[in-house]
Amino acid sequence: MKITDIFKKQDRTFSFEFFPPKTYLGAVKFGINAGQLIKLDPSFVTVTYGAGGNTRDNTFDLVKLFHEDLGFVCMAHYTCINATEEKVANDMRTLGDMGIDNVMLIRGDPPKGDHSKAFPNSDGFNYGSDLVKFVKNYEKHDFCIGAGAYPETHIEASSMEEDLENLKRKVDNGADFLVTQMYFHNRYYWEFLNQTEKKGIDVRIIPGIIPITNFKQIKKFADMTGANIPDFIRKRMEPHQDNPDAIYQIGLELAIEQSYDLLDNGAPGIHFYTLNKSRAAIDLYEALADEFKIVKNKYKKSFRPHLPVK
Ligand code: FAD
Repeated sequence: MKITDIFKKQDRTFSFEFFPPKTYLGAVKFGINAGQLIKLDPSFVTVTYGAGGNTRDNTFDLVKLFHEDLGFVCMAHYTCINATEEKVANDMRTLGDMGIDNVMLIRGDPPKGDHSKAFPNSDGFNYGSDLVKFVKNYEKHDFCIGAGAYPETHIEASSMEEDLENLKRKVDNGADFLVTQMYFHNRYYWEFLNQTEKKGIDVRIIPGIIPITNFKQIKKFADMTGANIPDFIRKRMEPHQDNPDAIYQIGLELAIEQSYDLLDNGAPGIHFYTLNKSRAAIDLYEALADEFKIVKNKYKKSFRPHLPVK
């Protein structure tokens, strides 16, 4: 099922992002955490591609497991650094043959930021919009296409205006909806929605939320992505940064406040960056479920064609 078909029935979606585990122990932990998260019956799940050195096969195996064995609507992330047309076409055929209808098409980042080896790409895959265009025109399978959006401006862009032009191109080339990079102040999201609207970008833009459970780790992510950690968060967290329990509690409270504000003001759902951990996402989801009337089993009945493993 395409995620855009879920949009037709649901004003708000709740989705979880996972990454393929790299080690045996990582896989065991993944099973435990994902097992708990999928009991919440998210609208859809997504699996990242290539990030942190993961391989294509790991992503595709996990996508297959979620889709085929567990019956979830699943979205495979896919990136195009150093890709060829032949490779992308083969990989899209593999996903299409698996019955996957949804792909999150992202440029990716070159290893260790070495742009000179990755760009220009020999087959023209220099930006997310190039990949979107190719997959949209891929004749053997009609995918629902998601793509990335950057409320605080992508770290390489020289201005928001330029970034918005590029985002518009991505949507014009065929992106059906957008998911934002993590950010910590909703002001960025609301301002971004205003600007995208002015640009004529009229697809759903789902906010990507990450509960801060490890302040030091989040500071590293924020440096990598250019996300700003606002002063009100630093002031609450910094005095406790060596106390994991206190950081967890504050991080959860902040994520609840942020998500509550988003949903209360009409955001079209939440995409949870779970980092393959379940506790914070479950606590957050449960804090929102009653207030925002998230009906857990609804998707199972109406959208999931086969039963999950018992
Ligand atoms: P693009 O749209 O390609 O933009 C990148 C930069 O190029 C921007 O500054 C943009 O303004 C500029 N640009 C775009 N088009 C043009 C043009 N035609 N001419 C000039 N400049 C242009 N990474 C992974 O490795 N694996 C994943 O699974 C993954 N999933 C992600 C999911 C989401 C929702 C998001 C938001 C990010 C994800 N990332 C992932 C990170 C992503 O790879 C990086 O953020 C990457 O730097 C940008 O990819 P993009 O396709 O979003 O950007």
